[in-house]
Amino acid sequence: MKHIDISEILVGQELLGQEVVVCGWVRTFRESAQVAFLELADGTSFRKLQVVLDKGKLNVDPECTKLGAAVAVSGEVVKAYKGDGNELNARAVTLLGKCPPEYPIQKKRTTLDFLRTIPHLRLRTNTFAAVFRVRSVAAQAIHRYFHEHGYYYINAPLITASDCEGAGEMFRVTTQPWNASYKTEEEYYKNDFFGVKAGLSVSGQLEGEVAATAFGKIYTFGPSFRAENSNTTRHLAEFWHVEPEIAFAELPDVLEIAEDMLKYLIHAVLEECPDEIAFFDSFVEKGLREKLLHVEGSKFAVCTYTEAIDLLKPHNESFQFPVSWGCDLQSEHEKYLTEQVFRRPVFVTDYPKEIKSFYMKQNADGKTVAAADLLVPGIGEIIGGSEREADYEKLLAAMKERGMNLDAYKQYLDLRLFGSVPHGGFGLGFERFVMYCTGIENIRDVTLFPRSVKNIM
Ligand code: ATP
Ligand code: MN
Repeated sequence: MKHIDISEILVGQELLGQEVVVCGWVRTFRESAQVAFLELADGTSFRKLQVVLDKGKLNVDPECTKLGAAVAVSGEVVKAYKGDGNELNARAVTLLGKCPPEYPIQKKRTTLDFLRTIPHLRLRTNTFAAVFRVRSVAAQAIHRYFHEHGYYYINAPLITASDCEGAGEMFRVTTQPWNASYKTEEEYYKNDFFGVKAGLSVSGQLEGEVAATAFGKIYTFGPSFRAENSNTTRHLAEFWHVEPEIAFAELPDVLEIAEDMLKYLIHAVLEECPDEIAFFDSFVEKGLREKLLHVEGSKFAVCTYTEAIDLLKPHNESFQFPVSWGCDLQSEHEKYLTEQVFRRPVFVTDYPKEIKSFYMKQNADGKTVAAADLLVPGIGEIIGGSEREADYEKLLAAMKERGMNLDAYKQYLDLRLFGSVPHGGFGLGFERFVMYCTGIENIRDVTLFPRSVKNIM
């Protein structure tokens, strides 16, 4: 259908006085004796277009004025009677799709909890229009950032035979009928599609390292799958994962890149989504814009795990899980560090090797590895990264200590045999980033169709 985007009509002089056609959904309708007003949204702008109906001249089908109805309006673009911008004086209104009163998006009932029960319709609310605009802008900015900085964009496989870190949390991929009965596991998988046990990837990192040790700088941006049995507001079974991997990079380089990238993304969101950020600032997280501006303009904090434990210990009585050196940091500890101690994003580095993955570079102290998690207020961990162990013997030893199946990692070990270099990278949870930029507190509300335990609507 020939029509003009609402975003083009709302501002500027070019279309003033011109006759145009717009298409959209009715967001509000109100009327007085002589005039009626429709507010239309078509997704091209967070702002709605006000359509003015002169009741003396126009006979509008009442179906066109119902909340949620889809209509096409032709009319003249004029300066808004009130406020900045333009509005439309309607000449004709055509019904495209009517919307009966059962339409569940009514002003009174739109809590996020309720909207989660109608994932196919909730996108027609202001909140979701704003969330998904930010999400889209951020995704574009990720590609732009890496492209501008000389990275290859690679696509790691989603089906994998290596169960990397995710032994317990990997979804299996199979074509075996449910009633197949085999004597051994091996026999069972031999008959399966790939002839071996296969699953959905929990991370593209291992393949990312393969590419980085050929192309220098690479990133992946795709889904990761984790059968996490934790029903939290920060975990999904399917999430989008941004994973750069950089050759000739040591841990401080990884931190620098992560910080630079995050600031670039925040800048892009502030620049490109001013209306959306203003909306979140008013209705979701007071002070959001200030927070983002501050983060963009200041240096992230850095502290070692050992320092973090020393900072946390005096407050042990206030934690559900008291800390001591060697323990994994729980969400409550991460939040305490970033919200109470540093009050800004903080990298925690050099964790005990026992609580981190086999591939992380072993530090000279023999106790810690060159890992870094970025913690942010309100969420906790948003990025997990490390320098990778580039030494063949050390990597092999770490894998043996963990009782790993070395055969399955031959290719990964080969990278350390043939022209091994220091390298590192990180994983950013894309949904967690969107939560951070919008103030939305539940990861299910920044995801089109969230998948989590017992939920695949
Ligand atoms: P967490 O401790 O929060 O469970 P993790 O340490 O298991 O996370 P990593 O393996 O380091 O996560 O993954 C890198 C990033 O991916 C995390 O920092 C986080 O932002 C994101 N992430 C990890 N698991 C999930 C998930 N289940 N849902 C959404 N995002 C996730
Ligand atoms: Mn992590």
